[in-house]
Amino acid sequence: MEKAFYRDTWAEIDLDAIFYNVQSMKQHVGSHVEVIAVVKANAYGHGDIQVAKTALEAGATRLAVAFLDEALALRKKGISLDVPILVLGATNPQYAPLAASQNIALTVFRADWFEQAIVYAPYEQPLNVHMKLDTGMGRLGAKTKEEVQQMIHAIEQHPSFILEGVYTHFATADEQNIDYFSFQYDTFLHMLEWLSIQPPLIHCANSAAGLRYPDRIFNAVRFGISMYGLAPSQEMKSLLPYPLKEAFSLHSRLTHVKKVKGGEKISYGATYEAETDEWIGTVPIGYADGWLRRMQHFSVLVDGKRAPIVGRVCMDQMMIRLPYELPVGTKVTLIGEQQGDRISVDDVAAHVNTINYEIPCTISYRVPRIFL
Ligand code: PLP
Repeated sequence: MEKAFYRDTWAEIDLDAIFYNVQSMKQHVGSHVEVIAVVKANAYGHGDIQVAKTALEAGATRLAVAFLDEALALRKKGISLDVPILVLGATNPQYAPLAASQNIALTVFRADWFEQAIVYAPYEQPLNVHMKLDTGMGRLGAKTKEEVQQMIHAIEQHPSFILEGVYTHFATADEQNIDYFSFQYDTFLHMLEWLSIQPPLIHCANSAAGLRYPDRIFNAVRFGISMYGLAPSQEMKSLLPYPLKEAFSLHSRLTHVKKVKGGEKISYGATYEAETDEWIGTVPIGYADGWLRRMQHFSVLVDGKRAPIVGRVCMDQMMIRLPYELPVGTKVTLIGEQQGDRISVDDVAAHVNTINYEIPCTISYRVPRIFL
């Protein structure tokens, strides 16, 4: 049989962890709330179709992505037409009939979108739309009563459109201070009064709001980062109502091991100089894999010990200082566990001064994903 990949670097995705995280959220929010699994950006870098299928098996009833292209890709990969997919981003109105034909719901937030989309009516299948209200995120969404009523009017006029949902998105649900969250929530409540049609779905919660405010999420939660087992922020780690299971780990193998003498240099710019005789290992991962140059000075796990990354990270390779001589082929864990020690996605994010969301998303297509 043909091997799926030949390189010595791979990511492991623990689908049981994803199953557990979805099931836990379902139990947490109760049976009247639908879990919408957010699988945009290749499921935050974890693998869209595998995560989508696992989430659906665990009780999610819908999927959400950022772009129509991502939704169509899921259909092609086998997500059947009876599973509704919501596009959270903006979609050009000319693609409304295509979305409708694939049971893909679109986010709408402008009355003029309907004027353009109606040109293609009547559609063979009606299009489900979720109206987005901007309660303070300042990204997409209608803000005024007039805009909302114009959209409702367009929907009422044209049988090609069905108002399936209305929603908003929080900017600070993951922060300790809840003032702005409360402001957005109250604004949402107020804006909902402008609707003359009640859609079947009303949703506002991302992972943070779903975890923290199960009594303030109407009847659906858009579950992203914590489905992957990651806390929405550092502040939220102490506020989690149940433990999360991290699904992503990253591994490689030593391709070269050598002893260098004190004074010898390593990698581009010759910025690292061995202090004394040292064992140096070469690891086949670099910034083209999303393991960024800024990872220099971070450590990885080899033979259960921390080994620092020395010298600059190259496009495809990097060097680490080994605790002692180790054979070529020894497993290197960049994210994950070895012999009781663990490097988490959060540790990597902290090193490069960013949020955990960015880390698995950044690990590029070149790194094969293995599903456990
Ligand atoms: N809803 C919208 C509109 C989003 O943009 C996102 C993610 O960016 C989510 C839900 C999921 O958020 P989280 O990953 O924090 O759960």
